[in-house]
This record gives sequence, C-alpha cells and structure tokens, in this order.
Amino acid sequence: MWIGYSGELEFSLDMQKLKLIYEGKAKKLFDTDDPELLIQEFKDDATAFDATKRGTIVNKGVINNKLSERIFILLSNNHIPTHFVKRLSDRDMLIKRVEIIPVEVTIRNIVAGGMAKLLGLEEGGVLKSPVLEYHYKEDKLHDPLINEYHIFWLGVATGKELDRIKKYSFKINEILKKFFDSKGLILVDFKLEFGRCKGKIILADEISPDTCRLWDKATKEKLDKDRFRRDLGGVEDAYQEVLRRVMKE
Ligand code: UDP
Repeated sequence: MWIGYSGELEFSLDMQKLKLIYEGKAKKLFDTDDPELLIQEFKDDATAFDATKRGTIVNKGVINNKLSERIFILLSNNHIPTHFVKRLSDRDMLIKRVEIIPVEVTIRNIVAGGMAKLLGLEEGGVLKSPVLEYHYKEDKLHDPLINEYHIFWLGVATGKELDRIKKYSFKINEILKKFFDSKGLILVDFKLEFGRCKGKIILADEISPDTCRLWDKATKEKLDKDRFRRDLGGVEDAYQEVLRRVMKE
C-alpha cells in the first residue's frame, strides 16, 4: 500500500469510495476505510433559487475540485485549518470527516445578490468594511438570515466557536481578496462552511465560482454562478477562465 502524508495525517494513496453517505446539490460524500477520512465528489449539477432552477454546467465538478484544492492549500499555508487532505482525481477530493455546523457564513465586500435585495440597494456598491452574515442551513426554511443570538438559542455553536469562525472568515477574506486581485478578479462575496474536527473548528465544503461572486477587475464581467442563475450565457467559459487565471503562476 502506498502511503501519503498531508501535515500530521497519514493516508493510503489508493483510498477507495465505499458507501455513499450524503448527496447534496453539487457534491457527494463517501465513506472510506479510514473512519477519519471521506471522499468528496464534485458533480456538474447546478441549482439556484432554492433548487427551483436546475441544470448542468459541463466540467464544473472538475474545475471546482481543482480550484478548491488550490485555494485550500493557499489558506492552509496562511494558517487557516481546512478539511482538505489531497485531490485524488479529476472529481474526487480526500477530506477530513467533520461535524458540519449548520450555519453558512457569507462575507461581502461589494453589494450584490441577497444583500442588494434585502436592503433595496443597487448591485456594485463598495462596502467600507466587509459585511458578515449568517444563514441557518435548513432547506425547508429556505436558509434564513439569522444572527448570533439565534445561533446560541438554536445551540448549533458556542460563543467560543463563533469567535473562531468570525476570526477565520475575515482572515480568509483578506487572503482571498489579495489572491483574486492578483489574478485580475474582484472578490465580491462568498460563502463558507465550518465543521468540528477533534474539538477544533476547521474550514469545510468548497471554495469555487459556485460559492463566490467573482468579477473581472477591468470589465466587471461576472465570472461565477450568477451567469447560470441569471441566464447570462457563457457559464462553462466563465468557470474555465477562473481556473485558467488561478492556475497561472
Ligand atoms: N452562496 C452559496 N450557497 C448558497 C447561497 C449563497 O454558495 O446557498 C454564495 C453565493 O454564490 C454568493 C454568496 O454566497 O457568492 C452570497 O450569496 P447571497 O446571499 O447574495 O445569495 P444569492 O444571491 O445566491 O441568493
């Protein structure tokens, strides 16, 4: 058996997908023969507006897997703990098993999407400092906007955990803003998910044009999932373009 190392972790390089344990809108999760590790498979399926709009973005899974790998490595080099272990193939990523905290954290640098709608604002306004939002991950309630008091009342995270999550989220924003800027992209907003792993908070899920709004710096052209949400065309090309820029040294 070939053995690989990722930080403190030792794993078999011929890790196989065993049982499907979860299927979400864009990814599947599989057990492996190591109880601490899972395989995350990236699909081409795309959904929007509470899954009322459905479609396929050709090769999205392959692109998001590579982009997420690049970004998770960037973040862990900057002392953000993540669930990423190794990209195994085009669509498969080996990750640490975490207990997901059912709260989506959104960070916004520029007004768009949900914030424009909520506050009746024009899209494109630059925020003086980043805005952080929490949404409760509950499909049947349509992921409502919540605050820290709701989170404590729900009992889904402690004050100490939330402090950690906030600290990491703002730090991730600074790292990613700089990184995307160097690639000619504006990081408008993005969504993060965190989990508990051995008593520690770590970043989970993915970071890709499915979960970030990215605009071209010069033209302000949208290069993210809004092209699918708003039927703007050129969806596949936009994802490819983000990958091309991110991978260019
Ligand atoms: N987002 C996400 N998953 C969701 C909702 C939002 O990844 O279920 C991302 C979205 O791509 C954007 C950011 O979070 O980069 C903020 O989204 P917003 O709250 O504006 O909601 P939307 O406009 O997508 O309804």
